[in-house]
Amino acid sequence: ETATKLHFLDAALLAGRLQKRARFAHKGTYGHALLLAGSKGKIGAAVLAAQACLRSGVGLLTLRVPAVGYDVVQTAVPEAMCLTDPAADFVSELPDLTPYSSIGIGPGLGKEKAPQQVLAQLLREAKVPLVLDADALNILAENRELLATLPPDSLLTPHPKEFERLAGPARDDYHRLDLLRDFCQKHRCYTILKGANTCLGTPDGTLYFNSTGNPGMATGGSGDVLTGILTALRAQPLSPLDAALIGIYAHGRAGDLAAQVTGEAGLVAGDIARFIGPALEELT
Ligand code: AMP
Ligand code: MG
Repeated sequence: ETATKLHFLDAALLAGRLQKRARFAHKGTYGHALLLAGSKGKIGAAVLAAQACLRSGVGLLTLRVPAVGYDVVQTAVPEAMCLTDPAADFVSELPDLTPYSSIGIGPGLGKEKAPQQVLAQLLREAKVPLVLDADALNILAENRELLATLPPDSLLTPHPKEFERLAGPARDDYHRLDLLRDFCQKHRCYTILKGANTCLGTPDGTLYFNSTGNPGMATGGSGDVLTGILTALRAQPLSPLDAALIGIYAHGRAGDLAAQVTGEAGLVAGDIARFIGPALEELT
């Protein structure tokens, strides 16, 4: 067995990975992202992911939310198009996927039969980069046969509990990193194990440890913001490694910039979304 490669994810590691926007860009230049998110009582997760996606430079964004989310999304995120699902409370049908250059799924989605079937069909049919978070990961954990259908280079963003459901219980933090490396190699995916020391695992067994972020980000919706960022970066398109590294770092950095204004206790997830622009600008 060869030693695991470890890297510290700081600004130096990101040098040259993010380009300035092209002078003659138009809204078709930076991709069209699709987010499948939200259920009754959790439409806010879809809104936060959408705001973050738009703040991360995507050209166009379409949201698939249950019917109950239509007025909310059109009001809270007027920049996004809203493709409402026929079902009232859960996403139940996959829309035509041809227009999209990346797809994010999971925030606030619910684990009911309807979203389960949508995820299963998405894994079979998607030909563009995928970002899986939250209930999309919980559905994978409860329907393990779906793991074998995960398209290569998919990006997964579990917090420790979601990761444990996917990969089993860890004896301690070191064992959890072993499980992370093994999981990424086995399923040929990029997995972002979120927390105070977010760690990215890659299919070749490398681990990257993030250097940005603060405890103010331990607040509901922070993870939904990361999903929006990653879906936008994959749409533009960036490679899975560049999208993951830039997304993780900029998410934490945006949280640090936001906390300078709100304080850590006062930070809410929407504040992180608002500071993604300056965080990304620092990297170009
Ligand atoms: P979620 O649990 O899905 O809402 O994700 C929480 C997000 O906030 C992840 O991106 C974490 O890395 C981040 N986060 C949570 N707590 C902290 C912390 N104490 N320090 C830095 N980042 C954190
Ligand atoms: Mg989450």
